[in-house]
Amino acid sequence: MARLPEPLQDLIDAFERLPGIGPKTAARLAFFILNSPDRAVNELVTSLQAVKRDLGFCQSCFNITLAASPLCEICSDARRNRTSLCVVEEPLDVLALERTNAFNGLYHVLHGVLSPIEGIGPDDLKIRPLMERVRSGGITEVILATNPSMEGDATALFLHQQLMPLGIRVTRLARGLPVGSDLEYADQSTLSRALSGRQEMSG
Ligand SMILES: [Zn+2]
Repeated sequence: MARLPEPLQDLIDAFERLPGIGPKTAARLAFFILNSPDRAVNELVTSLQAVKRDLGFCQSCFNITLAASPLCEICSDARRNRTSLCVVEEPLDVLALERTNAFNGLYHVLHGVLSPIEGIGPDDLKIRPLMERVRSGGITEVILATNPSMEGDATALFLHQQLMPLGIRVTRLARGLPVGSDLEYADQSTLSRALSGRQEMSG
């Protein structure tokens, strides 16, 4: 057998397009699927389809929402403070911050960070809708809660420069989160402290 059968090669190629999956892992996953019982594979297919069919992104903050509701649970909650906006990289960061119970405002999910190396610029992120949200009024503070990584810091700096002329308070999570770490893996008390100790970004 000089070449793998096409369906198997296609599956390997599909796995390889996933983030963090190299050729070796892709092949291992594909053979795992080949050896799995039909029932397990069908469950996986059903889950994949359900995620695409039943979920979407909130029209306002771009957090995950049920496809049937244009606004997510947080944006539609009348008890949330609408003057404070917390900007995060990914929906999982919203979950991490919600678990701290230390923030009662609204969120804005960028869906990534600026990364010149990977060719990701401002237009590839939800930055334009963020600016529109802030410009439309009512927001007095934007908390930049991107990860404490090089890209996260650069993104916060860029957003600070964009937001500064609008005359609102722009803060950054306090240091204390390990550098290079992900918000979603930070423990609740560390994250809670970083939030309450947030500091005004200087010009
Ligand atoms: Zn929302």
